[in-house]
Amino acid sequence: MTSHKIIRLRPKEGRRARAGAPWVFSNEIQMDTTAKGLTPGTIVNVACDDGQPLGTGYFNPKSLIAIRMLDQAPDTIIGTGFFVRRLERASAIRAALYAKPFYRLVHAEGDGLPGLTIDRFDDSLVAQVTTAGMERLIEPLIAALAKTAAPANIILRNDTPSRALEGLDNYVRAAKGAAERIALEENGVRYFADVAGGQKTGWYYDQRDNRAFMAALAKGKSVLDAYSYSGGFGIAAAKNGAREVICLDSSHAALALGEEAAAANGVACKFVKADVFEELERLASAKEVFDIVIADPPPFVRAKKDLEPGAKAYRKLARLAAAIVAPNGYLLLASCSHNISAERFAGECAAGISRANRRGALIRHAGAGPDHPVHPLLPETAYLKTLVYALD
Ligand code: SAH
Repeated sequence: MTSHKIIRLRPKEGRRARAGAPWVFSNEIQMDTTAKGLTPGTIVNVACDDGQPLGTGYFNPKSLIAIRMLDQAPDTIIGTGFFVRRLERASAIRAALYAKPFYRLVHAEGDGLPGLTIDRFDDSLVAQVTTAGMERLIEPLIAALAKTAAPANIILRNDTPSRALEGLDNYVRAAKGAAERIALEENGVRYFADVAGGQKTGWYYDQRDNRAFMAALAKGKSVLDAYSYSGGFGIAAAKNGAREVICLDSSHAALALGEEAAAANGVACKFVKADVFEELERLASAKEVFDIVIADPPPFVRAKKDLEPGAKAYRKLARLAAAIVAPNGYLLLASCSHNISAERFAGECAAGISRANRRGALIRHAGAGPDHPVHPLLPETAYLKTLVYALD
């Protein structure tokens, strides 16, 4: 019988972990010399001060989130069998939701696998590992993926900046096969993603439902898709009968994939490489307007300390974007920063719209789709906020 090393909570600490939350912070545990000496990522049993077991997790003495829980039972063997159980559950949920094999297969804590996201593009899987604990488990993870999904390609996109917080180096490699530019399908639209060199895993599945919502409004309309990446919103709108679509982004590579995708769908979209703030100001002074303006920017609040400047940037974006919406048009504003709350973001958007001298109503407030499940005790990990306004 295995027995993991035990990490104890300090007296009266770990209220959230006792209630079933999957995180324990470093100030909540008894950080003695044994604990401090454990290799980052060691599998441990977690126990309350009185010895009552809380379960199995992995531990990083160097991280603020010192423990991420993997299982409610102590002494759980974290090997291929564990991953097979978690992956089968995650797969079953997606299979019930989607007819085609294009979705986020694993969304970290939401799927009981902290430190891991996996996006599925048919027989190619693109994984991102963000913690020392998950890094040490890559071998059983790959074995479990081979058993449950039998993918042709598994790409490890382990190049996210957050890995540095866990003391990890960045790298990209194929654990199986090889893949770069791949095709995907979403809402009946064909797109292309570069899973080896594109942003994140190559595609942002989180906006799928919001893309469908905007596409439904777009028939016969002119659409500006700002921060378009490879055309997620814009091409869906064009395919649904938009009269004119302009996609704006600063990444040449992302726009090039968008151009290919527009052609593959038989629709005309214009792809423009520009800085969004500059271009919105230029369009306003040229008195150009669009029936639908979409602004889905990169995170403006990357860290807690960026909250005030980031909030101001969201307000400015809302003001500039609202200013070029045609009368009775629609405006989508999104934030993927988990460091700004939904309330604050909505407040900045409202302030920006009003500064542009526009009135209107919020007709949708949404987040990521159901392939991005949220652990119920970690509501703060629901990072995406997507607001849609109908402006007068
Ligand atoms: N809306 C996209 C996702 C956007 S991600 C989708 O549905 O898939 C944010 C995008 O903003 C990235 O493609 C990035 O290249 C782009 N970007 C970042 N800074 C920018 C800037 N200053 N001007 C224009 N685009 C920018």
